[in-house]
Amino acid sequence: MLEKPTLYVKLAGYVIFVLYSELRRALKTTWIQRQASWFGPVAPSSRTRNIVIVGASFAGNHVAHLLTTSLPPNSPYRVIVIEPNSHFQFTWVLPKLCVIKGHEHKAFIPYGGTVFNKPEGVLRWIQDRVTGVTKHGVTLEKSNEEVPYDILVIATGSGVEKGLPSRVNATDKLQGMQLMREMQIDIESAKTVVIVGGGAAGVEVATDAKALYPYKNIILVHSRKVVMHRFGSGLQKSALEGLERLGVEVILGERVVENRSKATVTLTSGRELECDLIVNCTGQKPSSEILANLSPSIISPNGHIKVKSTLQVADVQLPNVYACGDVANTNTPNPNARSAMRQAAVVADNILLVARGKDPRNEYANYWPDGVIKLTLGLDRSVTHLGDGVSELLFKSKETDEALMSAMCWARMGQKPFDDPYMKERNVGSGMVTR
Ligand SMILES: Cc1cc2nc3c(=O)[nH]c(=O)nc-3n(C[C@H](O)[C@H](O)[C@H](O)COP(=O)(O)OP(=O)(O)OC[C@H]3O[C@@H](n4cnc5c(N)ncnc54)[C@H](O)[C@@H]3O)c2cc1C
Repeated sequence: MLEKPTLYVKLAGYVIFVLYSELRRALKTTWIQRQASWFGPVAPSSRTRNIVIVGASFAGNHVAHLLTTSLPPNSPYRVIVIEPNSHFQFTWVLPKLCVIKGHEHKAFIPYGGTVFNKPEGVLRWIQDRVTGVTKHGVTLEKSNEEVPYDILVIATGSGVEKGLPSRVNATDKLQGMQLMREMQIDIESAKTVVIVGGGAAGVEVATDAKALYPYKNIILVHSRKVVMHRFGSGLQKSALEGLERLGVEVILGERVVENRSKATVTLTSGRELECDLIVNCTGQKPSSEILANLSPSIISPNGHIKVKSTLQVADVQLPNVYACGDVANTNTPNPNARSAMRQAAVVADNILLVARGKDPRNEYANYWPDGVIKLTLGLDRSVTHLGDGVSELLFKSKETDEALMSAMCWARMGQKPFDDPYMKERNVGSGMVTR
């Protein structure tokens, strides 16, 4: 009976803790920037030690932001970020914007707002992919350059072989937008769509497609007995109700074993589904391969990088290598942007200690409120879920913005929504098309 009130109290405690941590960090940063304005930054040539960050999504970009704002002005360290994508790719909105036309440009946010504007020499940003890591440096794909590191942060997250609607699998904004438009048109043209995977991406694509095109057959196939199986039973029930309310056919406890042609899907039971489009919403895998040669024993069977509580990788030979975000094996029940950014803060704080000649001592622990999820169930409604494993809270709401939280994310990235010089340079405006 007291579970729910207890959950509210715990939530309030968490919010106070987060606000206190943010305030403390803001005060520290202000103090460092004040020092920089008094003494001036060191000459760029004096910054001879490299902190290399591989991957600049929620985790890597946040480490870069915290370090470039908090390294003391006289520090010999500089930050080098290596990221293949032209833009920050905002995963949260991908499933919806692969169905609904006209907003795809909003999923690609220019880098730099919170990171670039730093004294000369503090940051080098390299648009490239790391192909290998040695004890002393990383190798780049396009330029073949070897970038030496004193401290390395692996924030390469996870990927999906088949790409959209979960991941973009294109490094350039215009190419990524094109892939999203192709999926929108494929869904628009299909009579029957089979969506594989009843996690958040599958549920959102299914409910959006059915809400937008009520006359189509939309079938969701999920291998478990419930949709959204990693979350509490309240969310599972709400998600199923949302799917059924719109008329999505939900097939549970079945896997797709074969799709002999684009026209037929065979399930484990032998049942065959006629369709003209299959949308795969499964198969996210940690992108840890760059460490596989240097330290094979720290790659877990499911591909995550094993880490200590300080988020240094679990290899005594590599005390200067950290991993954070989706790629790190932190036993986070539902890894998401919040947990990735909290891990980023632990890594940044440990690196700042090391930069001052101290031992890394900040530790990462899972906090249940990080697992909060907002699930949309069609074009105009959503449910937000919070649970601590004992009890759960559900908040249903109306959705008025088709692009969800895109504008907020642009603002958090220090950018004016949806103003992108990259698009203007290529003379494509915002790239918007209307429905
Ligand atoms: C469809 C979808 C919806 C989601 N919705 C939500 C949500 O609503 N709320 C929420 O909190 N979380 C959500 N998540 C989860 C969230 O997106 C992830 O937890 C988060 O992106 C993890 O961030 P990350 O920085 O660890 O890794 P990623 O976001 O996976 O980014 C990894 C980065 O590393 C780069 N990279 C990879 N390999 C290399 C290499 N070899 N060299 C250089 N760079 C490399 C990639 O280009 C990429 O930029 C969603 C995820 C998906 C897929």
